[in-house]
Amino acid sequence: MTETAALRTAPLRARAEIDLAALRANVRTLRALAPGAALMSVVKSDAYGHGAVRCARAAVEAGAQWLGTATPEEALVLRAAGLDGVRIMCWLWTPGGPWREAIEADLDVSVSGMWALREVTEAAGQAGAAARVQLKADTGLGRNGCQPGEDWAELVGEALRAQAAGLIRVTGLWSHFACADEPGHPSVAAQLARFREMVAYAETQGVRPEVRHIANSPATLTLPDSHFDLVRTGIATYGISPSPELGSPADFGLRPVMTLSASLALVKHVPGGHGVSYGHSYTTPGETTLGLVPLGYADGIPRHASGAGPVLVGGKWRTVAGRIAMDQFVVDLGGDEPEPGAEAVLFGPGDRGEPTAEDWAQAAGTIAYEIVTRIGTRVPRVYRDASL
Ligand SMILES: *Cc1c(COP(=O)(O)O)cnc(C)c1O
Repeated sequence: MTETAALRTAPLRARAEIDLAALRANVRTLRALAPGAALMSVVKSDAYGHGAVRCARAAVEAGAQWLGTATPEEALVLRAAGLDGVRIMCWLWTPGGPWREAIEADLDVSVSGMWALREVTEAAGQAGAAARVQLKADTGLGRNGCQPGEDWAELVGEALRAQAAGLIRVTGLWSHFACADEPGHPSVAAQLARFREMVAYAETQGVRPEVRHIANSPATLTLPDSHFDLVRTGIATYGISPSPELGSPADFGLRPVMTLSASLALVKHVPGGHGVSYGHSYTTPGETTLGLVPLGYADGIPRHASGAGPVLVGGKWRTVAGRIAMDQFVVDLGGDEPEPGAEAVLFGPGDRGEPTAEDWAQAAGTIAYEIVTRIGTRVPRVYRDASL
């Protein structure tokens, strides 16, 4: 494994190491799991905190044919960074969005309702080029997407008229699951059946989509029936299981990409009965040593993990002692005396004995998606194996 010069000169306070070789291997694993489908690597929200452009490049190198983002601005950043020759789709639009820029950047845009279809056709007229439009069906998620029935009939009909006028091309029909991470949940089969109906309706009306797609990471990992022409994998790309009930990353041949660590800013002896951090919610049970970890909720460490989050220091798991503050928190080192500057690993793949993002999710009462995504911009990302 090569380490970049950036790692050797990285600031000592804290760093999120991003293992791009692991990311590439995850992408290859996911492609093999859905051999009949193309793969979209979802790199929204700065690639779930891992760095959008670097991760997008690595994903494409490993065979991803599509990139997905939530907002058009995120997608435009990828094109501006030189990611050409790969399809890029974005799905979260609001009125007045950058339709024309999206058309000129050759993005696939998602349309869930009539307001969006009107805006994209108008922008296509101004740009003098057809927009690539993917119609999104709400098959039961109850979030974005067009309702079945009259709404879908109207949207499909108007989209076909705009296509006949040369203003758009309907490149995809798609939807999103509500409960794919709960194996056997009845909504999964219901959504698949509804999706098939809504696709069949559009196709009988004359839509010829390049891609039909509904699978996110959990569906890609566990529901081959849902793969259709394209699978959209986010969290699995970063080596994290969508849910511990489905299995561990290793169960699916995935490896976590991010390792978050910091250098202890202080190690000191304190007597028993010493209150620790704001509110004194922790009091030392006896004479001990405390280690100061220079990361806090401003860096994305969840304050809800106060008194619970695990940290590997000197080969032992320690627990956050007291409250997590904006910039720092404390661990009780139980009398051990590591040097200031010693490494404290909050989470990583787990094979050096360190906790995982899933462990932090459990400690904070959330999901591992949120743990990695919320790591803040004050923490430098250090890329490993970037050039392979
Ligand atoms: C975020 C997102 C995905 C990826 O979901 P994962 O569970 O991370 O794989 C796929 N599709 C849509 C529409 C999304 O918003």
